[in-house]
Amino acid sequence: MKIVVLVKQVLDTWGERRLDLSTGLLDRSSSDLIIDEVGERALEAALAYKDANDADVIVMTMGPREATDVLRKGLAMGADTAVHVLDDELAGSDMVRTATVLAAALRRTGFDLVITGNESTDGRGGAIAPMLSEILGVPQVTYLNSLAIAADGISGERGTEAGTQDVHASLPAVASVTERSPEPRFPGFKGSMRAKKKPLDTWALSDLGESGSPAARSVVLSTAERPARTAGRKVVDDGSAAHELAAFLSDEHLI
Ligand SMILES: Cc1cc2nc3c(=O)[nH]c(=O)nc-3n(C[C@H](O)[C@H](O)[C@H](O)COP(=O)(O)OP(=O)(O)OC[C@H]3O[C@@H](n4cnc5c(N)ncnc54)[C@H](O)[C@@H]3O)c2cc1C
Repeated sequence: MKIVVLVKQVLDTWGERRLDLSTGLLDRSSSDLIIDEVGERALEAALAYKDANDADVIVMTMGPREATDVLRKGLAMGADTAVHVLDDELAGSDMVRTATVLAAALRRTGFDLVITGNESTDGRGGAIAPMLSEILGVPQVTYLNSLAIAADGISGERGTEAGTQDVHASLPAVASVTERSPEPRFPGFKGSMRAKKKPLDTWALSDLGESGSPAARSVVLSTAERPARTAGRKVVDDGSAAHELAAFLSDEHLI
């Protein structure tokens, strides 16, 4: 079974995140860059299968040079090989472009199963997995809180507002998991040492036959800094606070 797990490098959500107002793009220097945790959970689902079965697990990312770090982490956790799609032309890619290029890379690796996070912590588009399924022409099972992999198919549980759904698909397929799926394993020292010797390929657009494909279709027309927060209004209770609060909420059309 060949499983490809898509992981993305994102800015640490605990740090400050800014847009570069001159380009409209994310300022990647505004905080620490880390592997998106939901991507680690996607990898955990693949590694849990590999623990008990014969499987080849590939971690893949599309991102700038420093995104190699997330692949090293994936290899340290237990993936067998890694693929970095790296090309200056990809800066500013939107979701369609990202999915198109990742699909081309997935065609090149080949796959029985592709696992992604349901949505990234930064872009939060939540559409890469469905787009991959459409482009690659394979079934999708998305937003899974649990994912069970078998030789002939996958199944899982998806939470909805009304309850839960049990979903399944035959292979090859694309699946995405949520932050409710099992916690990722810790790489450990041995894993980190072993990762240094594992194959990590770097592919440019020309390696994917994608050099002539269209650029991003979404274009940032303008950006503006969010206004600084102003101090809130303090209500001191001298016996009339409830009335004052109700009047405030009413004036603001909040009640
Ligand atoms: C006009 C425009 C310009 C942009 N410019 C930039 C930019 O310069 N730099 C930048 O970082 N982002 C940029 N973005 C955002 C970037 O396009 C999205 O992050 C990317 O397309 C994926 O969208 P998402 O993260 O919202 O996907 P989601 O659908 O929320 O992601 C779901 C899952 O897909 C997988 N995935 C998503 N992206 C990748 C990836 N790159 N590699 C591997 N797996 C992935 C992960 O498993 C992830 O958990 C831009 C977006 C727009 C609209």
